[in-house]
Amino acid sequence: MKKLYDMLSVARPGKSVSVKKWTEKYIDSMSKYGHFYIDKIGNRYITVGKDPKIAFTAHTDTVHFQEGILKLVENKETSTLRAVDSVLGADDGVGCFLLSEMIQNGVVGLYVFFVEEETGGVGSSYSVEKHFQIYKGIDCMISLDRRGTTNVITHQGGSRTCSDEFASNLSLALNSFGLEYSPDDTGIFTDSANFVGIIRECTNLSVGYFRAHSTEEYVNLIHIQKLRDTLLKIDWNKFSISNKKGQGVKSQEESVVEC
Ligand SMILES: [Zn+2]
Repeated sequence: MKKLYDMLSVARPGKSVSVKKWTEKYIDSMSKYGHFYIDKIGNRYITVGKDPKIAFTAHTDTVHFQEGILKLVENKETSTLRAVDSVLGADDGVGCFLLSEMIQNGVVGLYVFFVEEETGGVGSSYSVEKHFQIYKGIDCMISLDRRGTTNVITHQGGSRTCSDEFASNLSLALNSFGLEYSPDDTGIFTDSANFVGIIRECTNLSVGYFRAHSTEEYVNLIHIQKLRDTLLKIDWNKFSISNKKGQGVKSQEESVVEC
């Protein structure tokens, strides 16, 4: 978890020098694990394995207004971590950490690190507009950017982003390793919302941070460790939406939803 502490110790406002350096250090350094691409506004794409069906996403910016190094304090009794007199920025440093662990351990997937989510999903809006071809063949997008420890988000801003069936199956898969997830329709907004209509199942997963966007923000370290281990163990092939006839273009009739 040393890497998590290090990743969380930098305040990273969108477009700042800090977020640029941080991204180079923690994300670009993983380019050796897959096919790596940076688009014009700085979104990072890493494809691990052949023809992934699932996209995992996180955002590199934090809600901080000022750059700087944060002083972190761990409470050993509660296994929580927070920053002294500051937002922690675990939203979405934790998501970036989890994606980096999956990449380093060879979990097949398209990994996307979006810029400037906190200022209105700038990176993901750009990506879906300019680079939608990157998502060809992707059946599900799972953002790792939700507070708490139990939500598989089915709706963002009141609009459906994934089916109940998908959310239930993802919950079951997570829970088979001792977690306690369930479908939840109270999502607000994260990057995956911008892919509704392009990707069939778009969700957001709780990653163990609480009270984001406030100086009270903290993380549950036990949950992050458990979730990290679980994300590496899940058989993600179960979540692909395969075409029964093995033909190119999917339609509701032709496809079987295995998730
Ligand atoms: Zn976030």
